[in-house]
Amino acid sequence: MGDLKGDSRGSGTGKISAGPLPEKTLRALFESAPLAFVMVDQSGTIVMVNNEAEKLFGFDRRELMGHSVEELVPLSSREHHPGLRGNYFEAPEARRMGAGRDLYACRKDGSEFPVEIGLKPIRTDDGLFVLSAIADITERKGLESALLKAKEDLERRVEERTVELARQADELRAANEALLRSNMELQQFAYIASHDLQSPLRSISGFVQLLQAEYEGRIDEQADDWIRRTVDSIRRMQALIQDLLAYSRVDSRSHSRETIAFREVVDDALSLLEAPILESGARIVCGDLPTVVGERALLVQLVHNLIGNAVKYRADEPPFIRIEARRRGGKWLFSVKDNGIGIEAKYQQRIFEIFHRLHSQGEHPGTGIGLAICRRVVHRHGGRIWMRSEPGKGTVFCFTLPERQRPE
Ligand code: ADP
Repeated sequence: MGDLKGDSRGSGTGKISAGPLPEKTLRALFESAPLAFVMVDQSGTIVMVNNEAEKLFGFDRRELMGHSVEELVPLSSREHHPGLRGNYFEAPEARRMGAGRDLYACRKDGSEFPVEIGLKPIRTDDGLFVLSAIADITERKGLESALLKAKEDLERRVEERTVELARQADELRAANEALLRSNMELQQFAYIASHDLQSPLRSISGFVQLLQAEYEGRIDEQADDWIRRTVDSIRRMQALIQDLLAYSRVDSRSHSRETIAFREVVDDALSLLEAPILESGARIVCGDLPTVVGERALLVQLVHNLIGNAVKYRADEPPFIRIEARRRGGKWLFSVKDNGIGIEAKYQQRIFEIFHRLHSQGEHPGTGIGLAICRRVVHRHGGRIWMRSEPGKGTVFCFTLPERQRPE
């Protein structure tokens, strides 16, 4: 092997020239470099290798020196290699070999492994040589393919999940539509049933009243009791039917929206409750109430039910009811607070459900529909309703109404 000089063009020293470093140091560096180096002459004969190259290819240095570099090229590309090498020697420059292609090298045992190769022309007094720096990229390739696989796995899972979500969304949409349909059918049924029941009930009520007027006290005590009970049951059924009708009308009737001073809503509700208010000695206090956009009849019904309950479920002292409103997060927050009997915590979740009541007819008559109507009215206006209560101290019902009404 001749003495070498790095890419120098004719410095003429005949030694490896790398500035101030002596050849011995350079050689030691060359040998201990963590990269495999193989240098070949123009005929492709190996003229120099380092330790790492021996390790990488599994050849002893003596088995490489003077042999063709093609021995390190996989069989499949061995045939084309001399041509490529020839081209390189015609226009030598420092560059990567086989840019854009996957390169492989071949070990002594014939096994192949992926490599990255840097080429560097070296001119010496003995002619042009090429130094190849060869890095085994098996590990990197492994990581790359693991990464690719992970990416593909992820893409597949995202795709599967997207399909699954789309399917669930379809199912949900179908279920929602079915629910909406059955809700509407149920509402219609409730409306028709309660509406149609009214007229036969009116005649039953008429006849029983006639019976009572004509025969009370004329048959015997048992008959009087039965007639009284029948009249009571009919009254109760009428109340139920009225409330059911009101409940189903919340959504089934189209009410027109208008700008309303909420104080008027309260006044309308209070005038409907005149008798129980007078009878109970209730005191009702109103704070400043805003103007809202809504369906007047429904809002009156909401306030009527809440104040009516506050009066009905009073404790021993006369009811004291406070109605207030304040702005909170783009909404009006209304509260109706009483000093009544209160509601135990375990029942508080369920009282907005239809027919859910906590008292017998004897204690407090009612149908269990009032708060269900309240909830429906508030939801219809885009708000929320809830309550807080302390048994024995009182209850506060809160509901929100948007400051600006959503378009219908
Ligand atoms: P109803 O009054 O016809 O029973 P509601 O739906 O209006 O039906 O009320 C459901 C239940 O909630 C009532 O039976 C009552 O037990 C309870 N409740 C409602 N409002 C109040 C209140 N202001 N104070 C105490 N309990 C109440």
